[in-house]
Amino acid sequence: MIFVTHQRELNHMASDLSILPFALYSQKNIFMNTPDTLELRKERVNERPYEKFVFSFLEGDGKNKQLLGGKGANLCEMSQIGLNVPPGFVVSTEACLKYLGDPSHSLPAGVLAQVKEHMQKVEQATGKIFGDFQNPLLVSVRSGSALSMPGMMDTILNLGLNQKTLKALVAQTNNERFCYDAYRRFIQLFGKVALGVPDEKFDKIFEDVKYKAGVKLDIGLSTENLKEISDRFLDAVKQHTGKPFPEDVFEQLEIAIKAVFNSWMGKRAIDYRREFSITPQMANGTAVNIVAMVFGNMDNDSATGVAFTRDPGTGENLLFGEYLVNAQGEDVVAGIRTPKPVSQLQQEMPGLYQQLEGLRDKLERHYEEVQDFEFTIEKGVLYCLQTRNGKMNATAMVRTSVEMAREGLITKQQGLLRLKPEMLEQLLHPRLDSLHKTVPLAQGLPASPGAASGECVFDADRAELLGHSGHKVILVREETKPEDIHGFFASQGILTSRGGKTSHAAVVARGMGKPCIAGAEGIHVDVKLRQAVIGEKILHEGDFITIDGGTGYVYQGVIPTVEPTFSDELKTLLQWADEVAQIKVMANADTPDAARKALAYGAMGIGLCRTERMFNAPDRLPIVVEMILANTEEERSVALNQLLPIQRQDFRDILTTMAPRPVTIRLLDPPIHEFLPTEDELRDELTHLRHLKDTANGVNDLFNTLRLLHAHDENTKAVTPFNDKGIELIDQAIVKKEQMLRKVRELYEVNPMLGHRGVRLGLTYPEIYKMQIQAILEAAADCQEVNIDVRPEIMVPQVCNAEELIRVKGYVEEIRENIEKERKLNLNFKFGTMIEVVRACVTADELAKEAEFFSFGTNDLTQATFSFSREDAENKFLPLYAEKNILHDNPFEILDTNGVGKLMRFAVESGRQSNPALKIGICGEHGGQPDSIRFCHDLGLTYVSCSGPRVPIARLAAAQARLGAAKKSSL
Ligand code: PEP
Ligand code: MG
Repeated sequence: MIFVTHQRELNHMASDLSILPFALYSQKNIFMNTPDTLELRKERVNERPYEKFVFSFLEGDGKNKQLLGGKGANLCEMSQIGLNVPPGFVVSTEACLKYLGDPSHSLPAGVLAQVKEHMQKVEQATGKIFGDFQNPLLVSVRSGSALSMPGMMDTILNLGLNQKTLKALVAQTNNERFCYDAYRRFIQLFGKVALGVPDEKFDKIFEDVKYKAGVKLDIGLSTENLKEISDRFLDAVKQHTGKPFPEDVFEQLEIAIKAVFNSWMGKRAIDYRREFSITPQMANGTAVNIVAMVFGNMDNDSATGVAFTRDPGTGENLLFGEYLVNAQGEDVVAGIRTPKPVSQLQQEMPGLYQQLEGLRDKLERHYEEVQDFEFTIEKGVLYCLQTRNGKMNATAMVRTSVEMAREGLITKQQGLLRLKPEMLEQLLHPRLDSLHKTVPLAQGLPASPGAASGECVFDADRAELLGHSGHKVILVREETKPEDIHGFFASQGILTSRGGKTSHAAVVARGMGKPCIAGAEGIHVDVKLRQAVIGEKILHEGDFITIDGGTGYVYQGVIPTVEPTFSDELKTLLQWADEVAQIKVMANADTPDAARKALAYGAMGIGLCRTERMFNAPDRLPIVVEMILANTEEERSVALNQLLPIQRQDFRDILTTMAPRPVTIRLLDPPIHEFLPTEDELRDELTHLRHLKDTANGVNDLFNTLRLLHAHDENTKAVTPFNDKGIELIDQAIVKKEQMLRKVRELYEVNPMLGHRGVRLGLTYPEIYKMQIQAILEAAADCQEVNIDVRPEIMVPQVCNAEELIRVKGYVEEIRENIEKERKLNLNFKFGTMIEVVRACVTADELAKEAEFFSFGTNDLTQATFSFSREDAENKFLPLYAEKNILHDNPFEILDTNGVGKLMRFAVESGRQSNPALKIGICGEHGGQPDSIRFCHDLGLTYVSCSGPRVPIARLAAAQARLGAAKKSSL
C-alpha cells in the first residue's frame, strides 16, 4: 500500500518530467531501478513508514467526510474558517476499518505515534500538558462517521483525569466541586464505554448518594458527595473489571480510541444502519475526534447547550435551542436536567447571546444549510464544539427550503433537492380532531409534531414485542437512551417525563417523523410495575393513550384524527417542483370524489381510472351480478342498459372535475367471477337458506297443530304463521344462489390472473366493453355540448397482441361515428393500451400503430417478468430473498430497472420508432416511488400516475429527477 502510493507519486512525477528530453534523462537517472537507487527508495519509504491516520483540525479536509467523519470534517472546516473551536485532531475512519479488520485487535501501526505527535500540538495551542501534574490537559474523545447517527456511538469526556491530574486541576481552578464533578463523569463514561461496566452500577451509587444527601438535582450535590461518588465509582470499576481504573493517560486514550472504534460494530449502530439503509458507500467506519476540553460546568459564568439555527419543528427562522448553566454537554442531550430555552440566555448573558446569534449566522452562511450545533461557554468565552446539518421534520424542511431560497441563502433548486420526497408523507399525517373536546391527562413539551394513539408500554423491549405482534403502542419512559432505539421503531409515538426538545427522545422521534412529547414531568413511570402514575390516575400497560406532539398534550383513550391540509410553503415548493419537472404527475382515481382529492394534491390529470371499482358500489353490484348471470346477449343487455346511465354519470363527473386535464379510463379488467361471492360462501348461504325454509315450514306445521289442539285459545290466535310470501322469497333466494353457484363453478379458472380477464373478456363479451365505451363517449359529448373541455382517454387492459387492439378500436370507431352523427360534434379523445404483459413490450412497435398512448402497468408487468405472484411472493419468499440479499429490493415496491426496466426501455424505443407521437406513462404502484420516478424520467416517459396522497411526493421526485439528470449531464 505504502509502496503503491509512493510509486503512484513517482509515476505522476515521471509523466510530467517526460515532456522534455532533459527531463526524460533526469527521470531515468533518478528513478531507474539501478541497485543503488532502489536501496535509496527503500530507505525513503522507511523514513515515512506509516500511512497518515491522524489530522489536526487545521489541516484536515473539511469536505472529506468519508475519511474524517461528519463531525471531524466539520470541526476541521469550522477551525479553518475562524470559528472558536477548541484545538484537536481526528483519527481517521481508515484507522477504524483497519483496526476492526485486525484479528489481534491492535491499532494500526503508526496511529499511537501520530496521536502523540498531534497531542503535542494541542498542548502547544492550549498551553496545557496531557497528564501533567501542574497544568493538565483534558480531552474529549468523540465518535463521528460520514453520516450523522445521533447517539448511536460512544463519546468520553474529561479524559486525562487521574488522581494526580485531578489534584493539579483542583489547585489550578480552586474549584474542588467542579473537579470532582468532572472526575465522576469521566469514571462513569469511561467505565461504561471503554471498560464495559453496566450503567446501572453507577446510577445506583449516584442515586444512593443523592438520596442520603437529601438532594433532588445533581447540582445540589456537595463536593464531599461528589468525592464519595468518585471513590465508589472507582471501586465499582475495579470490582467489575478486576483491575484498578487506568491511571496512565495515554493508556486511557488508547483504550478510549479502541472503544469508539468498537462502537461502530455495536448493536445500536448496526440496527440504526440497517433501519436507515446506510450502506458502506455512504458511511464506513467511525473517526475519533480528540478535542481539548472546555467546561460548561466551571461556575455560574459557564454553560452548555445545543441549538439549531432554525426551529427544527416548525422551520421558523429563529435561534432555537436549550442550555444549562454550570453543566456539561451530556446533561442537555441526556435529559437529566430540564434545560432552559435559549431565548432566556438573552437575559442571563446578553453579550454571549449576541455572540451565539453571530455564530448561528456564520454557520448558516458557510454551510448553506440549517445547522444543529453544540456550544459551551467556559468562564464567559463561547466555543463551538460541533456542527452538523440539522435533522428536521418535513414541516420544517419545507418551510426552510422556501424561506432560505427567498432569503437568497440557497437557490430554488437547492431548496428542492435538500429534502427526500418521502418526507412529505409526514405532512399528510393526521392530526387530532379539534372538535373532540377532552381534558388532557398531562402536558409536556411538544417535541415532534403529529398525533398518535396506542397502548402504553414502559420499556423498549415490550414495545418491540407488542409492536411486532400488531399492537399500536406508545413508548412511555422517564427518559430514553440510544439503546431504546428498537422501541422507537415499533412505536407510534414517544412520551417522556424528563428532558427537553433536544433530548434523545425528541431528536430521534423527529428524525423518524414520529410524534413525541418530552419532559411531561407530571408522569411518574414505574417500569417494574409496568405502570405510570399521573396524579391520582394510574395507567397500566395496555391502557390506551393519545399524544399530540404538536401541543404536548397527553390524553386518555383514543381520540379521532383529521386529515392535514397543505401549508402555503408546501404549495410554493411543489409549484417550484412543477416548474422544474419534465415528467407529469397524474393520479390513480376511480370515483368523482377521489378525483377531487387528487386535484387538491396537485394531480395534473387521472392516469388510471379503474372502472371495475365503480361496479362494486352497493347500488350497482346487483346489476353487475345480473349481467354476469345472464345466459344470453339479450339478457345481458338488460343489465348493461341499467349500468350505462350510471357509468355515464360517473364519467361526466370525473371528466368535468378534471377538465381540461386528461382522464385515462381503463375498460373492465378483472375476471368477472370477482364480482360474485366465492363457492364456499355460496354453499354456506345456501345451507342457511335451506335451514331457514325448513324452520319456516316447521313453524307453520307447529302453528297448525296448535290451532287444532287449542282452537279457542286467545294466545294461539295472536300467533301468525309464516306467510306464503316469506317462503316464496326464501325460495327465490335459493334459486338465485344456486344459479350463482352454478355460474361460479362455470367461471372457475385454475389461474384467474392469467385467465379470462382484460381485453380477453372484452372480446368474448363485446357488449360489456361497448357499454363502457358508449358511456365514456356520451359523457364526453355531454360535456363538449356545454363547452367543458374534457380529455378522456380510453385504455384497454392486458393487451398482448395488436389484433386485440384493432378489434376494440373497431367498437370505438362504430360508437364514435354514431354519437358524432347524432350529436353533430367531433369527439376529442384518445385511444391507447396498457403495457403489462411481456409480449406487449416485445411487440410494442405493432401496438404503437394502433394506440395513441401506452401506460405501463408495472404491477402486472413485474409479476409477469418475474413469474412471481405478488400475493404469494410477498408472504412467502420475498422476505427471505431480501434478508439473504438474493433480491435487494421488493420489485413490487421499487421498480426492477434491471429486468422490468429493460423491457420498458425496449417498448419505449420500439413504440416511439413506429409512432413518434406516442404518449407514454406508468400507472403501476411504482409511479409514486421516487427511485422509480427517476428511472421513468430517464426513459423519457410523459407521465407517472400514482395514488392521490402520493402525488405531492411524486411531484417533488419528478423535479429532483430532472435536476439530478441535469447535474449528471453537466459533469
Ligand atoms: C398494473 O398492472 O400495474 C395496473 C395498474 O393494473 P392493476 O394493478 O389494476 O392490475
Ligand atoms: Mg394490471
